Amino acid sequence: MEKVIIIGSGPSGFTAANYTARANLSPLLFEGFTAGGIPGGQLMITNLIENFPGFPEGIQGPQLMMNMREQAQKHGTRLITEDVVEVNLKTYPFTVKSMSDETYSAETLIISTGATAKRLPLESEKKLWGKGISACATCDGGLPVFRNKELAVIGGGDTAVEEALHLTQFASKVYLIHRRDELRASKVMQRRVLTHPKVQIVWNKVVEEFLGEQQLTGLKLKDTVTGESVELPVVGAFEAIGHVPNTAFINGQLELDDLGYIVTKKGSTVTSVEGVFAAGDVQDHLFRQAVTAAGTGCMAAVEAEKWLQERAGI
Ligand code: NDP
Repeated sequence: MEKVIIIGSGPSGFTAANYTARANLSPLLFEGFTAGGIPGGQLMITNLIENFPGFPEGIQGPQLMMNMREQAQKHGTRLITEDVVEVNLKTYPFTVKSMSDETYSAETLIISTGATAKRLPLESEKKLWGKGISACATCDGGLPVFRNKELAVIGGGDTAVEEALHLTQFASKVYLIHRRDELRASKVMQRRVLTHPKVQIVWNKVVEEFLGEQQLTGLKLKDTVTGESVELPVVGAFEAIGHVPNTAFINGQLELDDLGYIVTKKGSTVTSVEGVFAAGDVQDHLFRQAVTAAGTGCMAAVEAEKWLQERAGI
């Protein structure tokens, strides 16, 4: 039986791993495979991170995650590169079933499975997915098919703005399509995108249809104020419309909020089930930063360690 199983390999999971490994709890960490994206979490599809402390010149997202992974292993974390498909929190010790049908039991669980990018629910989106439509400009924006072409990003948050700016390196022009007349992104990001000569903001528009048969050729946009439709010829469209928390495998065994995020006790990572802790974006739809995820990963590790000690009467 394991003392601690950590599910998820973003900044929260690896930070929880560092702390529990250094507390001699020999954590076992499921780093995922396909569920929730790719192992390493959302920073694996980000480029330069300028606000993670300790890197005055910034650091590439995948590099930061490789560093965290290496550090966790160095301290004794054991990794399993599989998705967790099921947990049983109703009996103790808890059990965790992986995609290869193996079952593991643990005294405490730290859930840090993050959140996944949302997609537009359109038939044409499904048809042309991967044929000009993507949810990750950082991963796909540099492909030859998009070079020196007109591209679009959908959304008005920090991700959308970051992706639009990233695409300006390759595209001849980037349209940022937003459903309102004001961006949600932070002021500094807004300033960058509003003044960028290659970016045109298309205000008050939603995508009604993705156009094209074998490959994306354009977007049919609907004006959210007038209701009028217009077509915009682009060969690439990148969706950046937010995230959903990766909680399906929990199957109703923990209290979740209206948006599906795990509810934690204020100021802690304690969940509705004693001995189960949640850290990172899976329990935070407010801050959603690498550094806050890492912070709650640390909290979860400390709380799990304390809980184990109390149970053992130490
Ligand atoms: P957000 O939820 O902040 O933004 C989503 C955007 O998509 C909003 O502008 C929203 O519009 C729009 N949207 C949502 N659903 C639809 C839809 N169905 N059709 C059209 N548009 C839609 O998500 P982000 O991923 O941008 O950011 C998540 C968090 O991560 C934020 O806290 C952000 O600050 C942070 N972040 C920080 C970065 C950094 O510091 N470098 C980089 C990236 C993200 P509306 O505004 O009208 O709701």
